[in-house]
Amino acid sequence: MLRIPALQVLSPTSWDEAAQLLSRHPEARVLAGGTDMLPALKTGQVKTPTLISVSRLPGFSGIELTTGGLRIAAGTPLADLARSPLVPTALAVAAGLVAGPQIRRTATLGGNLCLDTRCRYVNQSPLYRQSLGGCLKSHGDTCHVVAGGTSCVAALSADTVPVLVALEAELDLVGPSGARGLALSELYNADGRQHLSLRPGELLRSVRLPRLEASTRVVYRKWRPRHSLDFPLVSLALRLDLDPPCVRDGQLVVGVLGPRPRVLPLTRLAGRPLDRELAEEIGRLAGSCRPLANVPYDEAYRRQRLEVEARRAALEIERLS
Ligand SMILES: Cc1cc2nc3c(=O)[nH]c(=O)nc-3n(C[C@H](O)[C@H](O)[C@H](O)COP(=O)(O)OP(=O)(O)OC[C@H]3O[C@@H](n4cnc5c(N)ncnc54)[C@H](O)[C@@H]3O)c2cc1C
Ligand code: SF4
Repeated sequence: MLRIPALQVLSPTSWDEAAQLLSRHPEARVLAGGTDMLPALKTGQVKTPTLISVSRLPGFSGIELTTGGLRIAAGTPLADLARSPLVPTALAVAAGLVAGPQIRRTATLGGNLCLDTRCRYVNQSPLYRQSLGGCLKSHGDTCHVVAGGTSCVAALSADTVPVLVALEAELDLVGPSGARGLALSELYNADGRQHLSLRPGELLRSVRLPRLEASTRVVYRKWRPRHSLDFPLVSLALRLDLDPPCVRDGQLVVGVLGPRPRVLPLTRLAGRPLDRELAEEIGRLAGSCRPLANVPYDEAYRRQRLEVEARRAALEIERLS
Protein backbone atom coordinates (compact mmCIF):
# COMPACT_ATOMS: atom_id res chain seq x y z
CA MET A 1 0.00 0.00 0.00
CA LEU A 2 1.27 3.49 -0.84
CA ARG A 3 1.32 5.80 2.17
CA ILE A 4 1.66 9.54 2.58
CA PRO A 5 5.07 10.24 4.18
CA ALA A 6 5.12 12.00 7.56
CA LEU A 7 4.78 15.77 7.10
CA GLN A 8 3.42 18.81 8.91
CA VAL A 9 0.21 20.53 7.85
CA LEU A 10 -0.11 24.23 8.60
CA SER A 11 -3.60 25.78 8.64
CA PRO A 12 -3.43 29.56 8.33
CA THR A 13 -6.60 31.54 9.01
CA SER A 14 -5.94 34.55 6.76
CA TRP A 15 -4.70 34.88 3.18
CA ASP A 16 -1.83 37.12 4.28
CA GLU A 17 -0.73 34.55 6.84
CA ALA A 18 -0.92 31.80 4.17
CA ALA A 19 1.29 33.82 1.81
CA GLN A 20 3.78 34.61 4.61
CA LEU A 21 3.94 30.93 5.60
CA LEU A 22 4.46 29.91 1.99
CA SER A 23 7.33 32.34 1.53
CA ARG A 24 8.91 31.29 4.86
CA HIS A 25 8.67 27.61 3.81
CA PRO A 26 9.71 27.70 0.13
CA GLU A 27 9.62 23.90 -0.04
CA ALA A 28 6.00 23.80 1.23
CA ARG A 29 3.06 23.02 -1.07
CA VAL A 30 -0.50 24.31 -1.03
CA LEU A 31 -3.24 21.81 -0.18
CA ALA A 32 -6.81 22.55 -1.31
CA GLY A 33 -9.14 19.58 -1.97
CA GLY A 34 -6.10 17.27 -2.10
CA THR A 35 -7.50 15.10 -4.91
CA ASP A 36 -4.30 15.49 -6.91
CA MET A 37 -1.84 16.46 -4.19
CA LEU A 38 -2.47 13.46 -1.91
CA PRO A 39 -2.01 10.79 -4.63
CA ALA A 40 1.13 12.66 -5.80
CA LEU A 41 2.55 12.52 -2.25
CA LYS A 42 1.81 8.80 -2.12
CA THR A 43 3.63 8.06 -5.37
CA GLY A 44 6.53 10.37 -4.50
CA GLN A 45 5.89 12.67 -7.47
CA VAL A 46 5.65 15.46 -4.90
CA LYS A 47 8.08 15.46 -2.00
CA THR A 48 7.59 18.08 0.69
CA PRO A 49 7.92 18.27 4.46
CA THR A 50 5.08 20.83 4.74
CA LEU A 51 1.58 21.31 3.39
CA ILE A 52 -0.23 24.62 3.78
CA SER A 53 -3.93 23.91 3.91
CA VAL A 54 -6.03 26.73 2.47
CA SER A 55 -9.44 25.27 3.20
CA ARG A 56 -10.04 27.35 6.36
CA LEU A 57 -9.26 30.67 4.76
CA PRO A 58 -12.05 33.25 4.76
CA GLY A 59 -14.02 33.36 1.52
CA PHE A 60 -12.40 30.09 0.43
CA SER A 61 -15.52 28.99 -1.44
CA GLY A 62 -18.39 30.80 -3.15
CA ILE A 63 -19.73 32.22 -6.40
CA GLU A 64 -20.96 35.82 -6.51
CA LEU A 65 -22.24 38.20 -9.15
CA THR A 66 -20.27 41.44 -9.31
CA THR A 67 -20.82 44.65 -11.24
CA GLY A 68 -18.26 43.51 -13.85
CA GLY A 69 -19.35 39.87 -14.08
CA LEU A 70 -18.72 36.95 -11.76
CA ARG A 71 -16.26 36.17 -8.99
CA ILE A 72 -15.53 32.56 -8.10
CA ALA A 73 -13.50 31.81 -4.97
CA ALA A 74 -10.56 29.47 -5.59
CA GLY A 75 -11.85 26.89 -3.11
CA THR A 76 -15.23 26.49 -4.78
CA PRO A 77 -15.85 22.75 -5.31
CA LEU A 78 -16.20 21.72 -8.95
CA ALA A 79 -19.53 20.05 -8.08
CA ASP A 80 -20.90 23.50 -7.08
CA LEU A 81 -19.70 25.01 -10.36
CA ALA A 82 -21.24 22.16 -12.32
CA ARG A 83 -24.72 22.88 -10.95
CA SER A 84 -24.57 26.66 -10.53
CA PRO A 85 -27.06 28.65 -12.62
CA LEU A 86 -24.72 31.66 -12.32
CA VAL A 87 -21.70 30.32 -14.19
CA PRO A 88 -21.48 30.20 -17.99
CA THR A 89 -22.78 26.87 -19.28
CA ALA A 90 -19.44 25.86 -20.85
CA LEU A 91 -17.70 26.21 -17.47
CA ALA A 92 -20.43 24.21 -15.71
CA VAL A 93 -20.04 21.50 -18.39
CA ALA A 94 -16.24 21.40 -18.06
CA ALA A 95 -16.40 21.25 -14.23
CA GLY A 96 -19.02 18.48 -14.46
CA LEU A 97 -16.71 16.40 -16.69
CA VAL A 98 -13.79 16.34 -14.21
CA ALA A 99 -13.17 12.85 -12.78
CA GLY A 100 -16.31 11.44 -11.09
CA PRO A 101 -18.94 12.78 -8.63
CA GLN A 102 -17.03 11.93 -5.42
CA ILE A 103 -13.88 13.73 -6.57
CA ARG A 104 -15.82 16.74 -7.84
CA ARG A 105 -17.33 17.28 -4.39
CA THR A 106 -13.83 17.76 -2.90
CA ALA A 107 -11.84 19.06 -5.88
CA THR A 108 -11.63 22.85 -6.09
CA LEU A 109 -11.43 25.27 -8.99
CA GLY A 110 -8.10 26.65 -7.72
CA GLY A 111 -6.65 23.14 -7.53
CA ASN A 112 -7.82 22.51 -11.08
CA LEU A 113 -6.19 25.67 -12.44
CA CYS A 114 -2.96 24.93 -10.53
CA LEU A 115 -3.03 21.20 -11.35
CA ASP A 116 0.40 19.75 -12.07
CA THR A 117 1.16 18.74 -15.66
CA ARG A 118 0.73 15.08 -16.54
CA CYS A 119 2.79 12.61 -18.55
CA ARG A 120 2.44 8.89 -19.26
CA TYR A 121 6.03 8.35 -18.06
CA VAL A 122 5.85 10.26 -14.81
CA ASN A 123 2.29 9.68 -13.52
CA GLN A 124 3.28 6.17 -12.57
CA SER A 125 4.39 4.20 -9.54
CA PRO A 126 7.88 4.86 -8.10
CA LEU A 127 8.99 1.44 -9.38
CA TYR A 128 7.92 2.22 -12.94
CA ARG A 129 9.71 5.59 -12.87
CA GLN A 130 12.87 4.01 -11.43
CA SER A 131 12.88 1.31 -14.09
CA LEU A 132 12.96 4.02 -16.77
CA GLY A 133 15.83 5.78 -15.02
CA GLY A 134 13.62 8.78 -14.30
CA CYS A 135 13.21 11.78 -16.57
CA LEU A 136 13.70 15.55 -16.43
CA LYS A 137 10.63 15.87 -14.21
CA SER A 138 11.53 12.97 -11.97
CA HIS A 139 15.14 12.41 -10.82
CA GLY A 140 16.57 11.95 -14.34
CA ASP A 141 18.20 13.86 -17.16
CA THR A 142 16.32 12.75 -20.25
CA CYS A 143 12.86 13.16 -21.76
CA HIS A 144 11.11 10.03 -23.04
CA VAL A 145 8.62 12.02 -25.14
CA VAL A 146 10.97 14.31 -27.09
CA ALA A 147 14.30 12.60 -27.82
CA GLY A 148 17.08 14.96 -26.76
CA GLY A 149 14.53 17.41 -25.29
CA THR A 150 15.88 19.79 -22.67
CA SER A 151 12.60 20.89 -21.20
CA CYS A 152 9.55 18.95 -20.06
CA VAL A 153 6.47 18.85 -22.32
CA ALA A 154 4.10 17.15 -19.87
CA ALA A 155 0.49 18.06 -20.62
CA LEU A 156 -1.81 20.57 -19.02
CA SER A 157 -4.79 18.30 -18.43
CA ALA A 158 -7.12 20.44 -16.32
CA ASP A 159 -10.62 20.52 -17.78
CA THR A 160 -11.59 24.03 -16.72
CA VAL A 161 -8.52 25.77 -18.20
CA PRO A 162 -9.47 25.94 -21.92
CA VAL A 163 -12.95 27.26 -21.10
CA LEU A 164 -11.70 29.84 -18.63
CA VAL A 165 -9.05 31.06 -21.07
CA ALA A 166 -11.77 31.39 -23.73
CA LEU A 167 -13.89 33.31 -21.22
CA GLU A 168 -10.93 35.68 -20.61
CA ALA A 169 -10.73 34.87 -16.90
CA GLU A 170 -8.58 37.02 -14.62
CA LEU A 171 -6.96 35.71 -11.44
CA ASP A 172 -6.71 37.40 -8.05
CA LEU A 173 -3.39 36.34 -6.53
CA VAL A 174 -2.17 36.96 -2.99
CA GLY A 175 1.53 37.00 -2.19
CA PRO A 176 3.87 38.06 0.61
CA SER A 177 4.15 41.55 -0.88
CA GLY A 178 0.44 42.02 -1.56
CA ALA A 179 -2.25 41.22 -4.11
CA ARG A 180 -2.10 41.37 -7.91
CA GLY A 181 -4.23 40.41 -10.89
CA LEU A 182 -3.13 38.17 -13.75
CA ALA A 183 -4.87 37.00 -16.91
CA LEU A 184 -5.33 33.23 -16.72
CA SER A 185 -3.69 32.91 -20.14
CA GLU A 186 -0.52 34.36 -18.57
CA LEU A 187 -0.42 31.81 -15.75
CA TYR A 188 1.14 29.01 -17.80
CA ASN A 189 4.61 28.67 -19.30
CA ALA A 190 6.29 26.10 -21.52
CA ASP A 191 8.18 23.98 -18.97
CA GLY A 192 6.13 21.14 -17.53
CA ARG A 193 8.41 20.91 -14.48
CA GLN A 194 7.25 24.30 -13.26
CA HIS A 195 4.49 25.46 -15.54
CA LEU A 196 2.88 28.08 -13.30
CA SER A 197 4.19 31.64 -13.34
CA LEU A 198 3.25 32.19 -9.68
CA ARG A 199 5.84 34.16 -7.75
CA PRO A 200 7.36 32.66 -4.58
CA GLY A 201 4.74 32.59 -1.82
CA GLU A 202 1.85 33.38 -4.15
CA LEU A 203 -1.58 31.74 -3.92
CA LEU A 204 -4.67 31.88 -6.08
CA ARG A 205 -7.54 33.52 -4.19
CA SER A 206 -10.29 33.90 -6.79
CA VAL A 207 -11.18 33.92 -10.46
CA ARG A 208 -13.03 36.80 -12.13
CA LEU A 209 -15.08 36.40 -15.28
CA PRO A 210 -16.15 39.42 -17.32
CA ARG A 211 -19.79 39.60 -18.32
CA LEU A 212 -20.33 37.95 -21.72
CA GLU A 213 -22.03 39.74 -24.57
CA ALA A 214 -25.33 38.08 -25.50
CA SER A 215 -23.88 37.19 -28.91
CA THR A 216 -20.87 35.30 -27.51
CA ARG A 217 -20.97 31.51 -27.38
CA VAL A 218 -18.45 29.20 -25.71
CA VAL A 219 -18.53 25.41 -25.92
CA TYR A 220 -16.24 22.82 -24.27
CA ARG A 221 -15.44 19.41 -25.74
CA LYS A 222 -13.51 16.65 -23.97
CA TRP A 223 -12.52 13.24 -25.21
CA ARG A 224 -11.35 10.34 -23.02
CA PRO A 225 -11.70 6.60 -23.57
CA ARG A 226 -13.46 5.91 -20.23
CA HIS A 227 -16.20 8.44 -19.60
CA SER A 228 -16.56 7.63 -15.92
CA LEU A 229 -13.29 9.04 -14.53
CA ASP A 230 -10.49 9.80 -16.96
CA PHE A 231 -8.50 12.96 -17.50
CA PRO A 232 -9.00 14.47 -20.96
CA LEU A 233 -6.77 13.15 -23.75
CA VAL A 234 -8.24 15.75 -26.08
CA SER A 235 -9.80 18.97 -24.84
CA LEU A 236 -10.81 22.24 -26.41
CA ALA A 237 -12.96 25.28 -25.88
CA LEU A 238 -14.38 27.14 -28.85
CA ARG A 239 -15.44 30.76 -28.44
CA LEU A 240 -17.36 32.49 -31.22
CA ASP A 241 -18.46 36.12 -31.02
CA LEU A 242 -21.37 36.34 -33.43
CA ASP A 243 -22.97 38.99 -35.52
CA PRO A 244 -25.77 36.64 -36.64
CA PRO A 245 -25.66 34.83 -38.95
CA CYS A 246 -21.93 35.64 -39.24
CA VAL A 247 -18.89 35.25 -37.03
CA ARG A 248 -17.33 38.50 -35.80
CA ASP A 249 -14.38 37.04 -33.88
CA GLY A 250 -13.41 34.02 -31.89
CA GLN A 251 -10.73 31.70 -30.59
CA LEU A 252 -10.03 28.04 -30.19
CA VAL A 253 -8.25 27.07 -26.97
CA VAL A 254 -6.68 23.60 -27.02
CA GLY A 255 -5.53 21.68 -23.93
CA VAL A 256 -3.46 18.48 -23.40
CA LEU A 257 -0.83 19.42 -25.99
CA GLY A 258 1.99 20.63 -23.73
CA PRO A 259 2.34 22.48 -20.42
CA ARG A 260 0.22 25.46 -21.52
CA PRO A 261 -2.98 25.82 -23.49
CA ARG A 262 -2.64 26.71 -27.17
CA VAL A 263 -4.76 29.66 -28.26
CA LEU A 264 -5.67 29.84 -31.96
CA PRO A 265 -7.28 33.17 -32.87
CA LEU A 266 -10.19 32.94 -35.32
CA THR A 267 -10.24 36.61 -36.34
CA ARG A 268 -9.67 35.65 -39.96
CA LEU A 269 -13.12 34.02 -40.02
CA ALA A 270 -14.81 37.40 -39.40
CA GLY A 271 -17.73 38.04 -41.74
CA ARG A 272 -18.19 34.35 -42.64
CA PRO A 273 -21.58 32.72 -41.96
CA LEU A 274 -21.59 30.07 -39.24
CA ASP A 275 -22.43 26.96 -41.25
CA ARG A 276 -21.12 23.44 -41.88
CA GLU A 277 -18.37 24.73 -44.18
CA LEU A 278 -17.05 27.02 -41.45
CA ALA A 279 -17.31 24.17 -38.91
CA GLU A 280 -15.14 22.03 -41.24
CA GLU A 281 -12.59 24.82 -41.44
CA ILE A 282 -12.45 25.20 -37.65
CA GLY A 283 -11.97 21.43 -37.48
CA ARG A 284 -9.05 21.58 -39.92
CA LEU A 285 -7.49 24.38 -37.88
CA ALA A 286 -7.67 22.24 -34.74
CA GLY A 287 -6.11 19.41 -36.74
CA SER A 288 -3.07 21.62 -37.36
CA CYS A 289 -2.10 21.06 -33.69
CA ARG A 290 0.36 18.24 -33.10
CA PRO A 291 -0.45 16.12 -30.02
CA LEU A 292 2.64 14.54 -28.45
CA ALA A 293 3.20 11.11 -26.93
CA ASN A 294 3.05 12.71 -23.48
CA VAL A 295 -0.31 11.15 -22.57
CA PRO A 296 -1.73 7.74 -23.52
CA TYR A 297 -3.30 7.03 -26.92
CA ASP A 298 -1.98 7.29 -30.42
CA GLU A 299 -0.97 10.87 -31.38
CA ALA A 300 -2.38 10.58 -34.92
CA TYR A 301 -5.74 9.47 -33.52
CA ARG A 302 -5.77 12.34 -31.01
CA ARG A 303 -5.03 14.79 -33.79
CA GLN A 304 -7.93 13.45 -35.83
CA ARG A 305 -10.09 13.52 -32.73
CA LEU A 306 -9.20 17.18 -32.17
CA GLU A 307 -10.47 17.92 -35.66
CA VAL A 308 -13.72 16.07 -34.99
CA GLU A 309 -14.31 17.69 -31.60
CA ALA A 310 -13.62 21.21 -32.93
CA ARG A 311 -16.06 20.65 -35.80
CA ARG A 312 -18.67 19.35 -33.35
CA ALA A 313 -18.13 22.38 -31.12
CA ALA A 314 -18.81 24.74 -34.05
CA LEU A 315 -21.92 22.79 -35.04
CA GLU A 316 -23.11 22.88 -31.42
CA ILE A 317 -22.81 26.67 -31.45
CA GLU A 318 -24.65 26.81 -34.76
CA ARG A 319 -27.50 24.79 -33.25
CA LEU A 320 -27.63 27.03 -30.15
CA SER A 321 -27.70 30.24 -32.18
C1 LIG B 1 -9.04 9.49 -10.38
C2 LIG B 1 -8.84 10.95 -10.70
C3 LIG B 1 -9.39 11.46 -11.86
C4 LIG B 1 -9.20 12.81 -12.19
N1 LIG B 1 -9.75 13.28 -13.34
C5 LIG B 1 -9.60 14.57 -13.67
C6 LIG B 1 -10.19 15.07 -14.86
O1 LIG B 1 -10.88 14.36 -15.59
N2 LIG B 1 -9.97 16.37 -15.19
C7 LIG B 1 -9.24 17.20 -14.38
O2 LIG B 1 -9.10 18.39 -14.73
N3 LIG B 1 -8.68 16.76 -13.24
C8 LIG B 1 -8.86 15.47 -12.84
N4 LIG B 1 -8.31 14.99 -11.67
C9 LIG B 1 -7.39 15.86 -10.89
C10 LIG B 1 -8.03 16.64 -9.74
O3 LIG B 1 -9.01 15.89 -9.09
C11 LIG B 1 -8.65 17.96 -10.20
O4 LIG B 1 -7.81 18.61 -11.11
C12 LIG B 1 -8.99 18.89 -9.04
O5 LIG B 1 -9.68 20.03 -9.51
C13 LIG B 1 -7.79 19.36 -8.23
O6 LIG B 1 -8.30 20.23 -7.21
P1 LIG B 1 -7.94 20.00 -5.67
O7 LIG B 1 -8.64 21.07 -4.90
O8 LIG B 1 -8.18 18.62 -5.22
O9 LIG B 1 -6.37 20.33 -5.74
P2 LIG B 1 -5.16 19.82 -4.84
O10 LIG B 1 -4.90 18.37 -5.10
O11 LIG B 1 -5.36 20.23 -3.42
O12 LIG B 1 -4.00 20.71 -5.48
C14 LIG B 1 -3.64 20.57 -6.84
C15 LIG B 1 -2.49 21.55 -7.12
O13 LIG B 1 -2.93 22.89 -7.06
C16 LIG B 1 -2.20 23.63 -6.07
N5 LIG B 1 -3.18 24.54 -5.47
C17 LIG B 1 -4.44 24.21 -5.02
N6 LIG B 1 -5.10 25.31 -4.64
C18 LIG B 1 -4.26 26.36 -4.82
C19 LIG B 1 -4.37 27.78 -4.60
N7 LIG B 1 -5.51 28.31 -4.12
N8 LIG B 1 -3.31 28.57 -4.92
C20 LIG B 1 -2.17 28.02 -5.41
N9 LIG B 1 -2.00 26.70 -5.65
C21 LIG B 1 -3.04 25.88 -5.36
C22 LIG B 1 -1.64 22.57 -5.12
O14 LIG B 1 -0.47 23.03 -4.47
C23 LIG B 1 -1.37 21.44 -6.09
O15 LIG B 1 -0.13 21.65 -6.76
C24 LIG B 1 -8.47 13.65 -11.30
C25 LIG B 1 -7.94 13.14 -10.12
C26 LIG B 1 -8.13 11.81 -9.81
C27 LIG B 1 -7.57 11.27 -8.52
S1 SF4 C 1 7.50 15.14 -20.97
FE1 SF4 C 1 9.53 14.17 -20.77
S2 SF4 C 1 10.50 15.19 -19.01
FE2 SF4 C 1 8.31 15.68 -18.95
S3 SF4 C 1 7.42 14.15 -17.59
FE3 SF4 C 1 7.25 13.35 -19.66
S4 SF4 C 1 9.09 12.11 -19.99
FE4 SF4 C 1 9.42 13.39 -18.20
